[in-house]
Amino acid sequence: MEKRTFLKTGLLLSVGVALAPLIQACKGGGKAGKSAGLPTIPPPKLRRTTPFALAPLPYAAAALEPHIDKMTMEIHHGTHHQAYVNNLNKAVEGTVYNEYELDDIVARITTADTDKVIRNNAGGHWNHTFFWQIMAPGAGGMPEGQLATSINTTFGSFDKFKEEFSNAAKGVFGSGWTWLCVGKDKGLFICTTPNQDNPLMLQIAAKTGTPILGLDVWEHAYYLKHQNKRPDYITAFFNVVNWKEVALRFDKAMF
Ligand code: MN
Repeated sequence: MEKRTFLKTGLLLSVGVALAPLIQACKGGGKAGKSAGLPTIPPPKLRRTTPFALAPLPYAAAALEPHIDKMTMEIHHGTHHQAYVNNLNKAVEGTVYNEYELDDIVARITTADTDKVIRNNAGGHWNHTFFWQIMAPGAGGMPEGQLATSINTTFGSFDKFKEEFSNAAKGVFGSGWTWLCVGKDKGLFICTTPNQDNPLMLQIAAKTGTPILGLDVWEHAYYLKHQNKRPDYITAFFNVVNWKEVALRFDKAMF
């Protein structure tokens, strides 16, 4: 063996030995089964200079009636969502997340106990901001264009998709969300997350992707009108899905 080759091989071997425990640790780490490898986290935008704030609903609180009632919308947006915003502002103070934009916090948040309050409230703020936008008065019906094609290809038909999404939403134990996402492979998939987690939480979600449709199945989202009848709420939700907005998000994630 030439000296140079020997040195190169020796170097590679030492690097391999040095990296082995790290790779092992990554494979073994993460409760959510991250064996597919480390998530790619985009660089932070940083330097958020103003506190998080609650945007007004994009329509009147009564605009989704009779499917989602005015009082539920008022309390859900004005009380619950506002609380996530307030608590997030308090929780990020003095932490590394203080200057991050919401997307950057969500991408970086970890399962550490010290991140728990930020995780719940950053998720709560992100999820609800998204939720108001993917609903609209006089909406519902069916998706069109590329999104419709992709749904049909993936799930067999729009009705089959609805059935699968609804079953996933019914199956969430306790509080959480059901999502339709675009995966890294540009394929559509349905998933659920507990509490205020979402599929953009690269360090936490069992399967990560870009949400294009999401349904809040916390009881606070439906209890006043539907009490414990979550299936009725899921049916009502499909009457207000803003498929145009969902399609915009689909296009952005795809192309
Ligand atoms: Mn909610």
